[in-house]
Amino acid sequence: MASVVWLEEVGKEDLSIVGGKGASLGEMINIGVPVPGGFAVTAQAFREFINKAGIAKKLFEALNVDVNQEAQLLKAEETAKRLIMSAKVPADIEKAIKSRYNELCEREGEAVFVAVRSSATAEDLPDASFAGQQETYLNVRGADDVFNSVRKCWASLYGARAIFYRAEQGFEHDKVNLSAIVQKMVDSEKSGVMFSSQPSTGEPLVVIEAAWGLGESVVSGSVSPDNYVVDRAKKSVVSKLIAAKEIMIIRDPKTQKTVTVTVPAEKREAVVMNDTELVELARYAEILEEHYGIPQDIEWGVEKGKIYILQSRPITTISKAKAVSETAASGNILVSGLGASPGSATGIVKVISSGKDLDKIKQGDIMVTKMTMPDMVPGMRRAGAIVTDEGGMACHAAIVSRELGCPAVVGTKKATEFLKDGMEITVDGRRGMVYEGRVAATEKPAVAAATQVAVSKPVTATEIKVNISEPDRAGAAAATLADGVGLLRIEHMILGLGKTPNWYIKNGKTDVYIDELVKSVKTVADAFYPRPVWVRTLDAPTDEFRAMEGGEGEPLEHNPMLGWRGIRRDLTETEHFRLEVRAFKKLHELGATNVGIMLPMVQHVKELRAAKEIMMDEGLDLEKIDVGIMVETPGAALTIEDFIEEGLDFVSFGTNDLTQYTLAVDRNNENVAGLYTEMHPGVIKLIEYVVERCNEAGVTTSICGQAGSYPEMAKRLVEIGITSISANIDAVATVRETVARAEKILMLKALRERN
Ligand code: PEP
Ligand code: MG
Repeated sequence: MASVVWLEEVGKEDLSIVGGKGASLGEMINIGVPVPGGFAVTAQAFREFINKAGIAKKLFEALNVDVNQEAQLLKAEETAKRLIMSAKVPADIEKAIKSRYNELCEREGEAVFVAVRSSATAEDLPDASFAGQQETYLNVRGADDVFNSVRKCWASLYGARAIFYRAEQGFEHDKVNLSAIVQKMVDSEKSGVMFSSQPSTGEPLVVIEAAWGLGESVVSGSVSPDNYVVDRAKKSVVSKLIAAKEIMIIRDPKTQKTVTVTVPAEKREAVVMNDTELVELARYAEILEEHYGIPQDIEWGVEKGKIYILQSRPITTISKAKAVSETAASGNILVSGLGASPGSATGIVKVISSGKDLDKIKQGDIMVTKMTMPDMVPGMRRAGAIVTDEGGMACHAAIVSRELGCPAVVGTKKATEFLKDGMEITVDGRRGMVYEGRVAATEKPAVAAATQVAVSKPVTATEIKVNISEPDRAGAAAATLADGVGLLRIEHMILGLGKTPNWYIKNGKTDVYIDELVKSVKTVADAFYPRPVWVRTLDAPTDEFRAMEGGEGEPLEHNPMLGWRGIRRDLTETEHFRLEVRAFKKLHELGATNVGIMLPMVQHVKELRAAKEIMMDEGLDLEKIDVGIMVETPGAALTIEDFIEEGLDFVSFGTNDLTQYTLAVDRNNENVAGLYTEMHPGVIKLIEYVVERCNEAGVTTSICGQAGSYPEMAKRLVEIGITSISANIDAVATVRETVARAEKILMLKALRERN
């Protein structure tokens, strides 16, 4: 058996030679898909090295430890890696690797940068998956460095995590082999992902997401990509949504490291892909789906105008319901709580006590924490799932996870006590269960998986809007074709700055603060223009500010939920409110005329009046900008006539709060979570009362609490006569369908009654 093989020389029958990754790349090349060139150092070369170097016995003996004993496990890793890194590699193997790299450079016409990846394989179970267990080395150049990286890949077969995993799964260490894949790096000027079929419906539509630079920004969700849909049969582009792309990841020409930079202004809102490129991409997607016989989730990049397919794997969402029930069928439950964000994921536990620990969270790890805080959002993006001790369906972790499409279980009471760093667990965010180890098939998170591009949607008389908290989800939100944004929360953006608004005021940096607000809101306003975007003024409880720079003096309140938040705070700290108003003014001046202002936690008409006075004093033209209130206190609901008389453009039910204040049930307290329901007749009566009064007066009504995402509530609200419903990104399609049906039933009923 040769020590090295070109990727085009292998296929799916060669799993035992080049592992799953190598075989899949070879397979793609052979069906005409443009995969970056490269070669594999075979699993047999690795085995020959161990045997000829005479380290096999020592190596496998060293691995024979109790993997649950951290010290023993680390010792095994250290010994095994030392053996691999110091033993003599047979000269013919070393020579074969180096000269094959040089040949690759000749083929490519330059000294290429390569990625060296591990592709592990088990002798008796060649298609066993060890994905993510071993290392990858990027941006490697030169024959010596390539050879060293191959050796490091071999050594990574004996990392503590990999040893632990194999022992737990019952694989014998000496039966697991490793092939190293050496493949040209694509220095993409633009890149992205695509689904070969519409991921939520299975229709033959290729859904493509694209952004500038390397693909990590799209894969990790750190940028809002453009969204395109190509009809496979017609070979034409049927939908395009161009996002504001703020950042891109590129390879720094000096250091060769990947760096995140801001996108030059002229490219920020430019279309990333032209129609010819999109149709070509769609053709590859179709070839891959036909070849594998199942819809594919594909990563791609474009370098010097040439398209490369970087990875293809099956979409796991289309048979979602089945996957979830399998997950629930087996496994030892470690903790349980509220299923706050659907989807399930398996990963390694990382317990986090503050935003300072975030580096611990690597892509796909499970974040376990008491309660998430806004400064943890970057880690939440990388997390495969989130588990918290505290919280209910409307806590920070629940809201942000749903928006990021990350499975989450909240309010487990004891996750941080029972789950320990390094444990492998499976989180089922629909059922609220956390299982030990890897449990059966897993369901992918709804938002990330489905991308939720709505290409055809039922027309509804009731408008269907979407809620957003993270501006970089604007692209995904707009792709739902929602009729607008019914709630843009700004506190997550502000808290994410790490400094309180007062810090900016005290340090004379109010311009910076206004600019940050304008930038974030504009991203969303642009993605939706001319559809309305209702931006809510700041509504952060004091306990969330306290942890931030500038938050040292925040008052200690017995019950921050009933405390100094929302409009009541802004009307006592008017200096801050004025900054928000100036940001709104600037947004309108910049053309974001679809931005409306929504005031939170209002309980008396005096508050609306006072807020309007300040707006006018700042020169805001209230004829041109929509101003409304959130109805989230029974006080506001029961005096809605006063607000109508004072004058307002819309009201929106904040049912998360309206429910807690009507039922006296703390929304963040897992001990009373069982009593918390927005369907309580008391809450419904308040909503009904407000909608009737507003309908009489011609004032628009909406809902932006979590309940708007529940079909049961959506149906009830249509019957009550609400004007619009704003749902979470992942719920827009379902709510739209529910509303369409509810409206038809009402019409049918009316017709029948008339006849
Ligand atoms: C609500 O109370 O329903 C709401 C949407 O606001 P928040 O969840 O941010 O309090
Ligand atoms: Mg609220």
